[in-house]
Amino acid sequence: MPYCDAFNRPIEYLRISVTDRCNLRCIYCMPEEGVPQLEHEQILSYEEIARLARVIVGLGLSKLRITGGEPLVRKGLERLIELLAAIPGVEDLSMTTNGILLAGMADRLAGAGLRRVNISLDSLRPDRFQAMTRRGRLEDVLEGIAAAERAGLRPVKINVVVIRGLNDDETLDFAARTVSPGWNVRFIEVMPLAPDPRWASDGYVPSEEIRQRIEAHFGRLRAVDGQGAGPARYYQIDGASGTIGFISPISEHFCFRCNRLRLTADGQLLPCLMSEQGVDVRSALRSGASDEALRALVVQAIGAKPSGHRLGAVTRGPGATPMSRIGG
Ligand code: SAM
Ligand code: SF4
Repeated sequence: MPYCDAFNRPIEYLRISVTDRCNLRCIYCMPEEGVPQLEHEQILSYEEIARLARVIVGLGLSKLRITGGEPLVRKGLERLIELLAAIPGVEDLSMTTNGILLAGMADRLAGAGLRRVNISLDSLRPDRFQAMTRRGRLEDVLEGIAAAERAGLRPVKINVVVIRGLNDDETLDFAARTVSPGWNVRFIEVMPLAPDPRWASDGYVPSEEIRQRIEAHFGRLRAVDGQGAGPARYYQIDGASGTIGFISPISEHFCFRCNRLRLTADGQLLPCLMSEQGVDVRSALRSGASDEALRALVVQAIGAKPSGHRLGAVTRGPGATPMSRIGG
């Protein structure tokens, strides 16, 4: 049975950021020059992550997701995947990646025990993709998607952050990909985060608007459920094999069904995406804490989960942990 927080929400999902580094600089996530990087010693080792994960899974959190920064830039990631996959009680082990390095790694990741991937892709136009990521090649991501499919990392989900005036004219193109070749696409409302919350104020497109645009073109969408433990709502175009999901952190307050904890690359357990301070598990791990003591810290982090955040009404302060260190 999963552990419940103070508001009776079952907590079953842990997002693990393995690095704060990234090979892209998406305009809504990172400044062009990057963010101040953690020192090597500040970052949890794979053994430390796995030890903590074992304690956390023991509390009933059975779904683990590896994220970053860009997780695939951290060396030897397969080793962490093997360690996590071997923990009794892990029911799902997935990763969120920008896909740039995926083509050359998908087979090894699957072999190590990774079950599936979510790939972030905001544009299907090479020039625009390059502009939004400030350095990426669309072709690399498309090859990564194909390699993930071949390696059986399914269902591959494509995450699209929609920004008005930048890529919102591509929502129908993405929706068409759910018909052929059958992608699973999720549209995400842009959140007001560092480095520049203005992307979210000027560029915010409510999920409902996107849904209406898609319906105006493709006809009524059919709601489908049972598509995972996350906050997305899923639909299908008539006759499509893929799905369309909407993740609406601004227009829909899904805090009441929040089921997650986040571990930052430097070993802070964050009760909420908007938490400016976490529970420091790194110090405990490095000072010989027992499993019992670690467990108490995890329970403390779960106990600190607020009933909800006011995303949309407030932005994270400039001193808050950057998104690229939390992992979305
Ligand atoms: N680098 C990996 C990637 O891009 O998939 C993993 C880390 S990234 C921080 C995780 C997710 O957060 C991505 O899907 C990204 O699009 C999303 N994200 C980053 N900044 C965001 C923002 N301001 N609003 C909404 N989503 C954001
Ligand atoms: Fe890197 Fe992911 Fe942030 Fe883009 S969204 S800059 S790929 S961490």
